[in-house]
Amino acid sequence: MELLHETLGEVTACSAITASAPVGPSQRQYANAALLLQSRLNPRSLLNVLQDTEAMLGRVRRGQRWQARTLDLDIVLWSGGIFAAPELIIPHPLYRERSFVLGPAAQIAPLWRDPLTGLTIRQTAARLSRWKRKA
Ligand code: ADP
Ligand code: MG
Repeated sequence: MELLHETLGEVTACSAITASAPVGPSQRQYANAALLLQSRLNPRSLLNVLQDTEAMLGRVRRGQRWQARTLDLDIVLWSGGIFAAPELIIPHPLYRERSFVLGPAAQIAPLWRDPLTGLTIRQTAARLSRWKRKA
C-alpha cells in the first residue's frame, strides 16, 4: 500500500488486512485488503503498473529458486463506470462472489455503486452472505 501510494497517486483509504482460506488445493491462507486510490492513470496504464508491482514484490528469492505469485493486485471498480478491453474488465468479473474482496471493500467504500448491478458494495456483500447462509 505504501509503495502504491508512492508510485500511483494518493491512497485515500485502506481496509484492515484479513485472512481468507485458499481457493483450491493450496494449504496457505491469504491476506486480503482493499484500498481507494486517486490516480491520473487510465485503467490500462494502472493495470500495467499493478502488474509491474506484482512482479517486483510478488517474487521472493528462496535459496536458488524464484517463487511466483505471492501477490495479486486487481482493479475492482473505478470512477469511470464500465470498462472493457481484452486484458481488463471493470467491474472485476468475479468480485461479487468473493467475500475476501467484498469484506475489505465494504470497509472503505460501502456506498460505492456497481454500474452493472446498481447495488452498493455493502448491498452486494449482504447479498453474498445471504446466499452463503442458504447454501
Ligand atoms: P487473478 O484472476 O487471480 O487475478 P491474474 O492476476 O493472473 O489472476 O490475472 C489474470 C489476468 O486478468 C490479468 O493478466 C489481467 O489482464 C486480467 N484482468 C481482467 N480484468 C482485471 C481486473 N479488473 N483487474 C486485474 N486484472 C484483470
Ligand atoms: Mg490479478
